[in-house]
Amino acid sequence: MNVFEAVKQSVTTRQAAEHYGIKVNRNGMAVCPFHNDKNPSMKLDKRFHCFGCGADGDVIDFSARLFGLGLKEAAEKLADDFFIAYDSRGRASPKESVRLKLAQEKQSRQEERDCYRMLCDYLYSLYEWKEKYAPKPEDDEWNPLFIEVLQRTSYIEYLLDMLLFGDKEEKEWIVREHGKEVRKLGERLSEINRKRRRNSIADIRGYRTGRERGRSLGYAGEER
Ligand SMILES: [Zn+2]
Repeated sequence: MNVFEAVKQSVTTRQAAEHYGIKVNRNGMAVCPFHNDKNPSMKLDKRFHCFGCGADGDVIDFSARLFGLGLKEAAEKLADDFFIAYDSRGRASPKESVRLKLAQEKQSRQEERDCYRMLCDYLYSLYEWKEKYAPKPEDDEWNPLFIEVLQRTSYIEYLLDMLLFGDKEEKEWIVREHGKEVRKLGERLSEINRKRRRNSIADIRGYRTGRERGRSLGYAGEER
């Protein structure tokens, strides 16, 4: 039970008013603390109502107004003053739940963007592999990456299409169903690219050493 419910269930406005020094007569009437009242014109019971100024509400409203507090603070003060137990981790207040919802929205948009970027990278690689690893007549076997191109291209195009033009549910579905797979894909792509970079550096080095070796051989040759 949250503090509002706990307080409202445990204390009447009349009890609170008396506790805070307001004199309430036998009929439950008191001099109104919220306007310049001469005769008791406020009725106090579970709630309160002033027939003079129209002030009205429950015990939390009453205490908030009396002490110039927010409703939450007033409820907490009442709980303290009357030793009322409540669950402080109870239901999230509306503000908190709105904040939570916004945070979730932001998170989903971010996941969609990540997913989209990763799939784009992959699709570009597929297009690249299609050219680069296209089988030549003399090849005995097709390059596995070329086979991957054939197997995956239209499916990836379909997913990207949905991420771009789908409605909210479709986008969320892709992230939910394919998020993990796409993340793995991302790791695999960077692994492939790393290898390729290493190979091309090795190629360049090999080429240089070859040339240098050639030159020195040539030089040695001239020496002779
Ligand atoms: Zn009043």
